[in-house]
Amino acid sequence: MPGLEFAGSVAYEECDAVIAGVPFDGTSSFRPGSREAPNAVRRYSYNFEPNLFEHGNVPMRFSDLGNTDDFLRPEDVMDDLRFMIRDPVREGRFPITIGGEHSVTLPAVELLKDVAVISVDAHLDSRDEFMGTRYSHACIMRRCSDVVGPDNVFVLGVRSVSDEEGDIPYISSYEIMEKGIGRAIDTALDSVRRERVYVTLDIDGIDPAYAPGTGTPEPFGLTPMDVKAVLNAVGPRLAGFDVTEICPPYDPSGTTSALGARFVKEALAINGRNLS
Ligand code: MN
Ligand code: MN
Repeated sequence: MPGLEFAGSVAYEECDAVIAGVPFDGTSSFRPGSREAPNAVRRYSYNFEPNLFEHGNVPMRFSDLGNTDDFLRPEDVMDDLRFMIRDPVREGRFPITIGGEHSVTLPAVELLKDVAVISVDAHLDSRDEFMGTRYSHACIMRRCSDVVGPDNVFVLGVRSVSDEEGDIPYISSYEIMEKGIGRAIDTALDSVRRERVYVTLDIDGIDPAYAPGTGTPEPFGLTPMDVKAVLNAVGPRLAGFDVTEICPPYDPSGTTSALGARFVKEALAINGRNLS
């Protein structure tokens, strides 16, 4: 859908934040379709009122930069995204990426440099290589760890881990269920060494009852309110955000895309609060 922008987008010169869409699902292992997510999320962004009153009606001045071009190799997609957001990040603008599969996280993390990465995900995504590429969605936290260091990554909501996976600190969804999300996010924020925190949301971190439209649905997940609590707790430390792995072909009700759009707005509101 050409010309579709996230609702409320302003001219680039006026923006504090940028949104980039990455319609890429080339390494998806189970059921592809997340390439349709950037535009689906944009479409559902029109569902919401412009301001979020619980954040104090802060300004949300962002510019939607559109989507990356089509490429076969994840490295090429990431180069394109890097090219799109390099100047905005250098100019101090807050980057938001709408995936696409989870591999889209890396460019913003590389460009922001001095950040820790907290992921919400059912999976650790810590393989060194998967199905012939080091840039698979299943390797993204390992690649982030390569960039920011192993003591600056943390995953919340994990409940599906394979034997080949590397050592990334995490808290399972079961522990979060027992002890609460507040304690989990405090542990994650204490664990990472850096002050500024990039949050990446793999939508399958949320329970499929709330977010069924995803490539690899995993039962026993977090609630949307848990994830809202994570963003609120990171709050003043939030350096960037992405939402990934929404799969519109499995989202006939549109509610998973709506949830993704709402989390983009939450990140924008927190950035607006931090600026005001
Ligand atoms: Mn996942
Ligand atoms: Mn993931």
